[in-house]
Amino acid sequence: LAISKFIAEIKKIIARENIFEDVEEKICYSYDATGENFLPDLVVFPTCAEDISNILILANQYNIPVVPRGAGTGFTGGALPVRGGVVLAMSRMNRILEIDSENLTALVEPGVVTGKFQAEVEAMGLFYPPDPASLESSTLGGNVAECAGGPRAVKYGVTREYVLGLEAVLPTGEIVQTGSAVLKSVVGYDLTRLLIGSEGTLGVISKIRLKLLPLPAARLTLMAIFSDVTEAAASVSRIVKARVLPAALEFMDEFAIDSVNDYLPGTFPEDAKALLLIELDGPEAAIEQEAAQIESVVTGPNVISLKKATSAAERDRLWLARRSISPSLQKYNLKKINQDVVVPRSRIPALISGIHQVAARLNLFIINFGHAGDGNIHVNIMIEPGDEDAAGRAKQAVKEIFKLVIDLGGSISGEHGIGISKAPYLGMELSPAAVAAMQKIKKALDPKNILNPGKIFPEL
Ligand SMILES: Cc1cc2nc3c(=O)[nH]c(=O)nc-3n(C[C@H](O)[C@H](O)[C@H](O)COP(=O)(O)OP(=O)(O)OC[C@H]3O[C@@H](n4cnc5c(N)ncnc54)[C@H](O)[C@@H]3O)c2cc1C
Repeated sequence: LAISKFIAEIKKIIARENIFEDVEEKICYSYDATGENFLPDLVVFPTCAEDISNILILANQYNIPVVPRGAGTGFTGGALPVRGGVVLAMSRMNRILEIDSENLTALVEPGVVTGKFQAEVEAMGLFYPPDPASLESSTLGGNVAECAGGPRAVKYGVTREYVLGLEAVLPTGEIVQTGSAVLKSVVGYDLTRLLIGSEGTLGVISKIRLKLLPLPAARLTLMAIFSDVTEAAASVSRIVKARVLPAALEFMDEFAIDSVNDYLPGTFPEDAKALLLIELDGPEAAIEQEAAQIESVVTGPNVISLKKATSAAERDRLWLARRSISPSLQKYNLKKINQDVVVPRSRIPALISGIHQVAARLNLFIINFGHAGDGNIHVNIMIEPGDEDAAGRAKQAVKEIFKLVIDLGGSISGEHGIGISKAPYLGMELSPAAVAAMQKIKKALDPKNILNPGKIFPEL
């Protein structure tokens, strides 16, 4: 059998301690945050680009799928070995190789945990803004492969804005360097950007050259509590119209608030129907002035309160609460169908009211929260596991919400990617010609469809 011959060959080139073959060990690499699981035939931990290259060359010889995996926090199934084969677990390539404080760049391996990297650079007075809520466990490689965003994307942009260059192993085993260590470079096609967000289908990222910023001098967090969800959504536009660009502008509806209050008791007022968490950063005087501008536009009968966090500990507690929404939703003991749609931020009120209409009509429980500052709302359809009727209504709701999002000028994924979960809906947003062009790129780089097959384009 091809797979047993392949495994025998792998054992000749990869050290025994970097291979998992036992079912108990393989199960740990069979799932991701979608909750779905597929057992791989083998888990291999590469330690360098040459290991990855050798594995891919063998995989091409024996026709074995290879699936890169960071921390498995992905929400669309990108790291799932849906057709078996090898899970390439990148967690042992986890060194920060260089932090260049003169040129404001860093060189890292892909398995470095995002939050650990942020803490290291911040200790040097530097700043790496991309902050997915999963940052305590997600890896920089996974962030690049998904082009992860986070609350700070509203002011600082997403992962793509901080990647200067990559070392990557192409599906057929060639090791390539893309981009460069300088801030500008226009030499040939931009392979860096092609690989960013490619969900592990066009290459395995083995090194990442990142751009850093100086750490902002001061930070201020404000929390606005509303008695009405539409008012919270409308306040997002009012803040931006007032010419304030917060470092983060996060939205939570009453169910998200309630859920976090159960998980971290006493965090938010019990009577809140919606809230905005707003972070300002920059020189002290500037952020005080911006806070005053926000206070002047976030007012009215539906604003219950607008408060500043008075200490770093209070600020950290609020942001921990924000990052705890997803885990806190487990209290409902329901299956969560999670979409990360994005619309122009002025259309958020229309999106929220449209989602409420869909929920009422299809009799579904939907929880909304997310990065309102950049229009990216997480829509969580909560259904009883095993309830086939609810699953059918949820599927219908997903289609209707995606249609609404596209009609509002938005996109069906702001940050979680397509993977397997959103693959059936790709054609709702992209034209047949665009999908065909993407498939041609995939076929040119991966003629045998070895690297992460079945993702983005299920027919491949
Ligand atoms: C609680 C929670 C909160 C989240 N919040 C956010 C958020 O705020 N913003 C956001 O953007 N996402 C968020 N996510 C989703 C997820 O954390 C991100 O997509 C993250 O970037 C995935 O990183 P990972 O290391 O876990 O990658 P994995 O899940 O292991 O893999 C994700 C994809 O990347 C590919 N991949 C991984 N490493 C490599 C590599 N070295 N080379 C090539 N391909 C690779 C995989 O094949 C897969 O397709 C959240 C997830 C959870 C569970």
